[in-house]
Amino acid sequence: MSNTCIGKNSIWLTAGAVLTALLAVILLLSPKVLASDCDILDNKNHSSRRNLPDSAINTDQAPRLTINPDAAEDIPLPFYKLADNTYMLFGNISTLNKQNRGFNANAGFIVTAQGVIVIDTLGTPVLGRRMLSSIHCITDKPIKFLIVTHNHPDHAYGAAAFRDINGITIIAHRGTVDYNRSQTLESSVAYRREILTKDMTGFKPLQADLYIKAEPFEKKRIRLGQEVIDIYNTGKHHSFGDLVIHQVNRNILWVSDLAFNQRTTYLGDGDSAQILKAQDWLLQTFPNARLMVPGHGSAQTSPFPMVAKTRDYVSRMRKTMGQAIDDGISMLDAVQNVEFEDWQAVPLYEMNQRANANFVYREMEKAYFDE
Ligand SMILES: [Zn+2]
Repeated sequence: MSNTCIGKNSIWLTAGAVLTALLAVILLLSPKVLASDCDILDNKNHSSRRNLPDSAINTDQAPRLTINPDAAEDIPLPFYKLADNTYMLFGNISTLNKQNRGFNANAGFIVTAQGVIVIDTLGTPVLGRRMLSSIHCITDKPIKFLIVTHNHPDHAYGAAAFRDINGITIIAHRGTVDYNRSQTLESSVAYRREILTKDMTGFKPLQADLYIKAEPFEKKRIRLGQEVIDIYNTGKHHSFGDLVIHQVNRNILWVSDLAFNQRTTYLGDGDSAQILKAQDWLLQTFPNARLMVPGHGSAQTSPFPMVAKTRDYVSRMRKTMGQAIDDGISMLDAVQNVEFEDWQAVPLYEMNQRANANFVYREMEKAYFDE
């Protein structure tokens, strides 16, 4: 056998290998989602679906989705159409557990002629990857922006699934950098790795391409296709730094955890005075918003009772704890005795009430001594 012959054979072999590799890459890149797996809900009537509310707008019902830990990652999560080209994944109203596996906050996406804008990522890399499959139910257009409203796990830990997407710009609040250096990140990741080991595969702390550093209530504008999106810095009200997103043309606001719907808020690493300030700003700036989409609970139309309700809870907690400090009541006693009877039936009250009281007592005490 001559060397020439071996040479020709190997050229063909190489060409064959290249073709196979190309085919594999094409197959890998093309969305594998089958239309039959897609669960796209309108806002009409799904009474046959006992685990999903009829609508994701102005409803008292809550999703009760159980996430199968063995489900393939290309199986889309169900989602609702909120408006033309605007979609919401409606999370369970619950704390993290082995049933919801981190699907306990909302997320969404907006489809334009030029690509997709994603808002928040759910609570684990696996859910982030399944959310990508949900997006592929609607479009094959590239994902151009991911905006993470704040660093909390239930909104941000799916972001790892988006990090390596070609051409994506990830946008987050500057406070995310502080969060990544904090003990809170370490302990929350350790907790999730313990109870949701497999779901955390591929987890990396959120690294953004663009950090929002604007002054409080200032905005950064992005455009994609027909959409104009304003991203407002609402300060450090609920986390290390929070954003509110305005879809300008449709007048839809993604308010994240500035207002809670269908559940009790969590005041753990934010600033309760800043919540009140930011809520004032929200209602004054957008009195005619068509829809507000919170981080938890259903979307709402005007007059947005979830804002007033969250506000009432926060201001009552500030007043109660402030009064306790004025009266010389110890933190332990103040926290043990704080009961909001009208909130007792609201989900996550039992879980969050004492922790919230504890946080606000310390805040008010600090303000008292700083005066
Ligand atoms: Zn949240």
